[in-house]
Amino acid sequence: MDVQYLDKLKEIVGEDGYFEEYEDLLCYSYDATYLKGKVPSIALYPTSTEQVSEIMKIAYEEAIPVIARGAGTNIAGSFIPLDRNAIIVDLKRMNKIIEIDAENLTATVEAGVVTLDLMTAVEKVGLFYPPDPSSQKVSTIGGNVAVNAGGPRGAKYGNTLAYVLGLEVVLADGRILNTGSKCIKQSSGYNLAKLFVGTEGTLGIITKAILKLIPKPESKKTMVAIFDKLLDASQAVSNVIAKGIVPTTLELMDDKMIALVDQFKPTGFPKDAEAVLIIEVDGPASILDGQLEEIKQICMETGARATKIAKDAEEAEKIWEGRRSSYGVFTRASQNVLTEDITVPRTKFPVLVKKIKEIGEKYNVNLCVVAHAGDGNTHPAILADLRDEGEKERVEKALEEMALEGIRLGGTLSGEHGIGVVKKDFMLAEHGEVSLAVMESIKNVLDPKGILNPGKVWNKSDITNS
Ligand SMILES: Cc1cc2nc3c(=O)[nH]c(=O)nc-3n(C[C@H](O)[C@H](O)[C@H](O)COP(=O)(O)OP(=O)(O)OC[C@H]3O[C@@H](n4cnc5c(N)ncnc54)[C@H](O)[C@@H]3O)c2cc1C
Repeated sequence: MDVQYLDKLKEIVGEDGYFEEYEDLLCYSYDATYLKGKVPSIALYPTSTEQVSEIMKIAYEEAIPVIARGAGTNIAGSFIPLDRNAIIVDLKRMNKIIEIDAENLTATVEAGVVTLDLMTAVEKVGLFYPPDPSSQKVSTIGGNVAVNAGGPRGAKYGNTLAYVLGLEVVLADGRILNTGSKCIKQSSGYNLAKLFVGTEGTLGIITKAILKLIPKPESKKTMVAIFDKLLDASQAVSNVIAKGIVPTTLELMDDKMIALVDQFKPTGFPKDAEAVLIIEVDGPASILDGQLEEIKQICMETGARATKIAKDAEEAEKIWEGRRSSYGVFTRASQNVLTEDITVPRTKFPVLVKKIKEIGEKYNVNLCVVAHAGDGNTHPAILADLRDEGEKERVEKALEEMALEGIRLGGTLSGEHGIGVVKKDFMLAEHGEVSLAVMESIKNVLDPKGILNPGKVWNKSDITNS
């Protein structure tokens, strides 16, 4: 890159607002996947929307790729730079909670706010921000919006999309778009705020978000149901939902996952069970025991060996710590971790789990099944060493077959992680040519030079009628 532009970029963010040394930039060639991207040319740390806008104006003029960075925790290869010239716009210094409007039940935040910081701040005033990715201690609201992140509570409360009321976005050419408002009903033309959700930094850089909050549930209770058969556990999930009961969370962990968690963070899950369900209900204290009793009955009728209700908040937190540690535990146990995010209509959940297990056996891969089962969202994780070419080939085939099976069951490639580079080869199978062509038309209007996070979400070659 021409050194003149580097100097202009550095001037915008000031002396302590950038990294340009190779050693500092190396970490920006990674995200939380097993992939390695290109080392970018510079990482910038703007402190205001105006600075982001100035950066984009230069990048647009020079047609230089720009990639927004939250905490780099995505597990779809949504971040990794594919171009050596890429500029990284790291939002970590734009981390102010601008306002918690307790009367309108909204929060206005800068994109770099850490998810847990927002959750904690709103809970202090009796409110609740439900999307709870297990990476919440480090992931950012900008990153959550950009991939439409979810989490265990998605079963009852949905993903980030359901909470985005408005956004401030810097467009590819540097213009600042403000869209949406604090209104919880908005029928005023195209909903541009929702359009940007899940676009993985390919349409603009999100600098602020207006988010919907809800009152904090009065109380919650956590129960574990223990199963001798994985397939019984997955059927129990479907049976609970079919009865019209929607718990806050309905999480599934298989025996391999239980053993790994136990190795690194003992939580007391029984080691001889083939699966456990972690079930949480929330709401008025007076109804929770009744709800748990109903769920317990369904689990027992579907083959549960036993159920156990956490006696207090401490015991419940220990259970959740075990569940939230899953990805960390995988990465400690294996050279590489490849996680799927296939989501199916909830009645199809048991069928998908069965298929996933069969595919794992067919390709002889080291597979763990963990799932946000209550919303049909599976995270089969393959622990592998991709330096072994034979193993790599088997893993890739297994992942492809799982993805296509999910689509065949009427599902989607991703319930919450996004597409990045990891799943883009299957976008055509899920969406078809017309949808991909429409997505590309939107991209061309908002990013005519293709500088925003190029090479992510779909393959150009898949779009034939644009
Ligand atoms: C241990 C672990 C547990 C996880 N658990 C969950 C889970 O339960 N649920 C879940 O949904 N995900 C989970 N994830 C995945 C990940 O944490 C989420 O995808 C999260 O939303 C990423 O946020 P981030 O700030 O790290 O974004 P990054 O990884 O930095 O970026 C993600 C994508 O968004 C873009 N982006 C980032 N910020 C902006 C912005 N301001 N404007 C425009 N584009 C932007 C990036 O360019 C990239 O394409 C987990 C990951 C790990 C490592």
